[in-house]
Amino acid sequence: MTEITAPKSPVTADQFADEIREQLKYAQGVTAEQATAADVYVAAAKAVRNHLQDAWFTTQADTVNGNTKAVGYLSAEFLMGKQLENALLNAGLTDQFDEAVKALGFEPKDIVDAEYEPGLGNGGLGRLAACFIDSLASLGVPAFGYGIQYRYGIFKQQFDENGKQVETPDYWLSNEEPWGHIDYNRDQKVSFGGEVVEENGKKVWKPAWSVRAVPVDYLVPGYKSQRVNTLRLWTARSYDEFDLLAFNRSEYMEAVEPKVKAENISKILYPEDSTKVGKELRLEQQYFFVSASLHDAIRVFYPGQDKPDLTTFPDKITFQLNDTHPVIGIPELMRILIDEYGYDWDTAWTITQKTFNYTCHTLLPEALEVWPSSLIGELLPRHLEIIEKISDQFKAELREKGVAENTINDMAIYTGDAVRMAYLATYGGSHVNGVAELHSQLLKDVTLKNFSDAYPDKFTNVTNGVTPRRFVKLANPALSDLITEGLGTDKWVSDLEMLQGLVPLAQDDEFVKKFAAVKQANKHAFVGFAKDHYGIDIDENTMFNTMVKRLHEYKRQSLKILAVISRYAGIKNGTVAADDVLPRTVFFGAKAAPGYYLAKMTIQLINNVARVINNDPDVKGKLAVHMLPNYNIEMAQNLIPATELDEQISQAGKEASGTGNMKFALNGALTVGTLDGANVEIRERVGAENFFLFGMNVDEVEALYANGYDPAKYYEADPRLKQAIDLVAGGTFSEGDRNAYAPLVSDWLTKDWFMTLADFTSYANIQAKIEELYTHPLDWNRKALLNVANSGFFSSDRSIEDYLERIWHTGPLAD
Ligand SMILES: *Cc1c(COP(=O)(O)O)cnc(C)c1O
Repeated sequence: MTEITAPKSPVTADQFADEIREQLKYAQGVTAEQATAADVYVAAAKAVRNHLQDAWFTTQADTVNGNTKAVGYLSAEFLMGKQLENALLNAGLTDQFDEAVKALGFEPKDIVDAEYEPGLGNGGLGRLAACFIDSLASLGVPAFGYGIQYRYGIFKQQFDENGKQVETPDYWLSNEEPWGHIDYNRDQKVSFGGEVVEENGKKVWKPAWSVRAVPVDYLVPGYKSQRVNTLRLWTARSYDEFDLLAFNRSEYMEAVEPKVKAENISKILYPEDSTKVGKELRLEQQYFFVSASLHDAIRVFYPGQDKPDLTTFPDKITFQLNDTHPVIGIPELMRILIDEYGYDWDTAWTITQKTFNYTCHTLLPEALEVWPSSLIGELLPRHLEIIEKISDQFKAELREKGVAENTINDMAIYTGDAVRMAYLATYGGSHVNGVAELHSQLLKDVTLKNFSDAYPDKFTNVTNGVTPRRFVKLANPALSDLITEGLGTDKWVSDLEMLQGLVPLAQDDEFVKKFAAVKQANKHAFVGFAKDHYGIDIDENTMFNTMVKRLHEYKRQSLKILAVISRYAGIKNGTVAADDVLPRTVFFGAKAAPGYYLAKMTIQLINNVARVINNDPDVKGKLAVHMLPNYNIEMAQNLIPATELDEQISQAGKEASGTGNMKFALNGALTVGTLDGANVEIRERVGAENFFLFGMNVDEVEALYANGYDPAKYYEADPRLKQAIDLVAGGTFSEGDRNAYAPLVSDWLTKDWFMTLADFTSYANIQAKIEELYTHPLDWNRKALLNVANSGFFSSDRSIEDYLERIWHTGPLAD
């Protein structure tokens, strides 16, 4: 841990109000009297950014001049969330801000709400990148996040009158965006296409076209570290505004074509799982940001040098590949070293292999990226040659190790038709890590088994984490105050294992009651939030039960909705005695990839189940269901602290880690979950008696696959399940239309790849245990408090410490 210093308290509230007025007047051209909340937000953002500017400069200078290796975090996604409150917290200006905006005639909340949340990520992977750069800065480790400033982030989700998901573009840059510094003078040229020719015995790439990569720099302030790192997001620009000759021929579309083509590269974030469409553009995006970032790192660490000694490059910076999206960086660094700086192959390979490390985020084979060689050859012909050579060298190395020929073929990086990016990353870097213990084990045993056999030392685990600044301190101020009261210090915010100190307080009924009151207050607050944002009425005296995450079959929102339907049917037909029904409000939040048919149908089903249940007087006050639109960081920050029961019900062996599970445990929800991903470690830490475990484990899942899984058997075996599926098939949630969900029903009954039906009975049975405990609030809250107390391990600060020790071999800057 770095020494924690108190934040500078640079200004008084009056001074900060003047700084905001100054921004309004000179930067925005409005008077304080004219200013709206949106104006004040922009002005306050710039004012707080100014306070971080000097620390940013010193951090940059120390990063370049110090002897501490930096970290480059290459990620196609950074799901940052709103910035203002986080920047104020880390700048030590929260109180001044509150007073200053009141003096200007505004409520602080309205100013904070005026910020538009950027959606430059799909879900967990992008949020992890955001948590990691927060922790790197807070630990004082010199680091750059490198990615893309997409013009359109993840789509905005709405529902139509039939409950179907409707995607609308998220044009987050339509208003002034006060956080990024666009830096035209530190641009990079990124080229594509063309051919490779031989000149004087050397390979020379003659590209066909180029785009200008312009960096937009975001300040990443550490919490109480006095360090401010950089998130550098590239935006694609055309070198030419238009083709004048074409324009003069009145060919206006042709005239702007090159510009459109260039700017398309950073136009939109791809929703994961959309496989076919836009493959080429996706590869262009990957190469675009990685090439610009590698050149940028050379510029930063060897300023003004024409012939830098790049054998020292891996001592200056280590690059983490966040999944396979940036893996084209491996052949790109080879190309830079050989073609641009004249190194021989072996030297270049040594440098490259030392420079990169790879984080694998999946176990689903279909999620491991594979590029057609023809596409790489067209877009990046020189890289394809380099990849072929890497692949040959790899085969030779395996032969030397005595690996069997058929295994060598199975491990091919380049198959002739395709390039397997995960394999390239595994061979081309120093370390490979999974993101939870179970996941890392399965990577070694299954997904990358041959690689682990050949290179056992490369493989390691780093269990994911979440930043306690955003997901506890900012999201849950009431709990934060209680924790500080309980521990007698607020140092836990940067040393989350200190939460352990709350364990004895779980035996103190008075403290547990205070904890329960905090939860109730958060529920109350969420009722208001939901009324404002979604126009819905929620009964705060019901159990708040939440399942929020991307919609995927493997995550099994189907299991939850079938259980809800079954409960509904049980109340209606009296199988569940009315007096025994524990009132529950079930919240779902989930976006589905636009091309993912069954996922979208599941959303439609949830919406319609909600419609039927919420309008049925027979279950009023006992069961309510809400599918909240547009799950994002803001919703997470508001809903998670209000949640009492959290759903982590993926099929065992499919969720790499999960980070939502960590956020909930840290905010005092109890989890109902399977032995999957980080659930396993959460349960170990919080205690089996404080976690609702159900369902098959990985071995049982594998055995069932091996024996031939027949979902229809489970449908026949449990009348509750049969009834729930029959209601869906019979049109109860589609106004009598029996075809509305036919594809979903047919999938459940004939395929059910993720074994939702097989786990239903276990899941339905554990509800009684959950509800029994809930009727004893003191016991429930004691267990919930123990979840908080024992979840300190799941801080992203700890994840970063593990990366530093196991993978990056570096540490904080000297003060
Ligand atoms: C944490 C988070 C996720 C990841 O959730 P999982 O349950 O781990 O899949 C996705 N989206 C948002 C907005 C999040 O905050």
